[in-house]
Amino acid sequence: MSAQREWFEKDYYEALGVSKDSSDKEIKKAYRKLASDLHPDKNPGNTLAEEKFKDVSAAYDVLGDDEKRKEYDEVRAMSPAGGFGGGHPGGGPGGFSFNVGDVGGSGGLGDLLGNMFGAGARRGGGSAAGVGPRRGADIEAQLTVDFADAVTGLETSLHLTADAQCSTCSGSGARPGTSPQVCQNCGGRGVVDDNQGFFAMTAPCTVCQGNGVTIDNPCGTCRGSGIERRPREVKTRIPAGVRNGQTIRLKGRGSPGRNGGPNGDLLVELAVRPHPRFGRNGDDLTVRVPVSFADAALGGDIDVPTLDGGEVTLRIKPGTQSGSRHRVRDKGISRTTKNGRTTGNLIVTVDVIVPTELNDAQRAAVEAFAAATTVEGGQESP
Ligand SMILES: [Zn+2]
Ligand SMILES: [Zn+2]
Repeated sequence: MSAQREWFEKDYYEALGVSKDSSDKEIKKAYRKLASDLHPDKNPGNTLAEEKFKDVSAAYDVLGDDEKRKEYDEVRAMSPAGGFGGGHPGGGPGGFSFNVGDVGGSGGLGDLLGNMFGAGARRGGGSAAGVGPRRGADIEAQLTVDFADAVTGLETSLHLTADAQCSTCSGSGARPGTSPQVCQNCGGRGVVDDNQGFFAMTAPCTVCQGNGVTIDNPCGTCRGSGIERRPREVKTRIPAGVRNGQTIRLKGRGSPGRNGGPNGDLLVELAVRPHPRFGRNGDDLTVRVPVSFADAALGGDIDVPTLDGGEVTLRIKPGTQSGSRHRVRDKGISRTTKNGRTTGNLIVTVDVIVPTELNDAQRAAVEAFAAATTVEGGQESP
């Protein structure tokens, strides 16, 4: 914010609680008292006091300096709030000169100032159309990947239709064989000085719309904008271990920037297809494995499938319960984090299977087992 603008908006006398014709001494005294009362050390965590302290400091910065105070008084005399009262647009004290006709205003000084400051503020924010380098917009896209690909990472291509650099003119906006010319009006700056007496301000160049260049022969494809909407393919590598719903930011792969501004980013939201067999818990993979009653009771080695289609052997202890979980080390998701490489485990849940059909030999064996269990149980129970 320019000092002049702030001066229009802020009543520093009011901030210090003094009248406009206070002496230097009175101003100093008022400032010291307020600065002491409002000092952040005395008001920890009090944001209101902090704001006021800033206002008071800013006010004293101006009113405590003879020269600045004089300037401030002159500027305030011009402002609507300062009691200028409108209806006197021709000229003010101290060489201020406004010409309402120049900006097409009709509502007097207040409107005039509003227009000027409005334009200035927009420019400062960098969002006015066509002024200065501008970053391209971010583009959002969705990508669905298989469970296994999400675990291992993959190279893939995204196909999207979005703003891209014009393929005919390579983004210059000029018809092939011609080139953009430096704007004669602003000399390529994109802004022109707009001196209104006291105020040194700039305004966007209306000839080039702030671009700094003019295009005499616009490209037929993009009509001079340098940007066209077209299908394009973006090759990218999806890192290992991405999760469902995660968004990946591909820097600089969004809409092209303008006037030398950087490109936007491409934000890819990932959907991961579920796997029929495997699940995921953080960096661990999960799988359920059926185990026979005999293996669970006696213990033994069981085969456990891995996501890559292979198998690993898991030794289970005698008396392994259905629903119990077992860890196969380092067979989970392996990915790179900011702390280095990390690898999860494969968590195996055992499902003890009860046979649905028994042949004669099996039936005899289970009956013998049952009989033995009953006898043992009978002996053990009181
Ligand atoms: Zn220009
Ligand atoms: Zn073009």
